[in-house]
Amino acid sequence: MENFVGIITGCNSLTGIGRATAYSISKKNPKAIYVTDIKDSDLATLAEEITKTTGVECIAKLVDASSDEDVKGVIDDAIKKYDRLDFYFANAGIGNAKSMAEQTKEVFLETMTINAWSVFAAVKYASAAMEHTSSQKPKSAGSIVATASIAAARSGAGSMSYAASKAAIVNICQTGAWRLHGKNIRVNAVCPGVIETEMTKPLLEAVTEDPRKQRLAMLHSALERYGRPEEVGAMVAFLVSRDASFITGQAIAVDGGSTAALPYLP
Ligand code: NAD
Repeated sequence: MENFVGIITGCNSLTGIGRATAYSISKKNPKAIYVTDIKDSDLATLAEEITKTTGVECIAKLVDASSDEDVKGVIDDAIKKYDRLDFYFANAGIGNAKSMAEQTKEVFLETMTINAWSVFAAVKYASAAMEHTSSQKPKSAGSIVATASIAAARSGAGSMSYAASKAAIVNICQTGAWRLHGKNIRVNAVCPGVIETEMTKPLLEAVTEDPRKQRLAMLHSALERYGRPEEVGAMVAFLVSRDASFITGQAIAVDGGSTAALPYLP
C-alpha cells in the first residue's frame, strides 16, 4: 500500500510507543503521517527527522486525543490536505498506578476519558473520514488501531482504573469492528506487555533495585526481558497495512508470552 495517510496520537515521548510506531509506519511508503500529542516539546523534531530520513510528509500537531474538537480538527486537516484518511493509531494514554485508597471518582473518570474516550472518539470520527475516503476512492480501506494493554486481560496488571480503561479499549475496538460491518474499515487493539518507555520507567527502576522483584518480573516473560517500543510499532505497522486485510475485531498481545501462561520456573 502506497500513498496512504494517517494519524498517530501520543508521539511526544522520546522513548514511547507512538514515536517508535511513527518510524515503523514511515518505512511502509505512506504519503503523510500526522504525529500528534498533548505536549509538543519534541514533536517538531520527530516530524523533521522522519521527513528528512524517509521523504514522508510528517506533520507535527498538538492534539489532546480525548478532546472531540482536537480529534475532529486533525482528521479534518488530513481530509482537507490529502482528501483521504487510511489509518488512525489511537495510542495516547496515561498510566495510573495509584492504590485503591488513592483512587477517586475523578481519578477513575480522568483515566477513562484519556485512555478510553480517546479510542471511542477515534473510532467514531476516523471511521466517518474513512467512509468519505472510500466514497471517493473505492479501492481504499481504513484501519483503526488502539493501544490497550495486557491489563485488559489480566487482573492485577495495573490499578483498577487503568485496567478498566484498557478493557474498555478492547471492547470498543471489538464492538467498533462490528458496528462498521461491511464498510471495509478494520478496528483492532494491540495489547503490549511491559515495554520500556517513560511510562514504565519509575516502575522498572524500582523493580531493578529489588532482586526478588527483578526475578519475578523476568518470569512474566517467556523471553526473559521487557519489550521495546519498536516491537509494538512493528505490529501496528502490520495492522495498518493491507497485509492485515482480514484481521479485525482482535486484541493482539505483544507481550513476550506473559498472557499465554501462568509464570513458572522452567
Ligand atoms: P509514554 O508516557 O512514553 O507516552 C505516552 C504519550 O501519550 C506521551 O507523549 C504523552 O504526552 C501522551 N499523552 C498523554 N495524554 C495525552 C492526551 N490526552 N492526548 C494526547 N497525548 C497524550 O508511554 P507509552 O508507554 O509509550 O504509552 C503509550 C500507550 O501504550 C499508552 O496508551 C499506554 O497505556 C500503553 N501501554 C504501555 C505499556 C508499557 O509498558 N509502556 C504497556 C501497555 C500499554
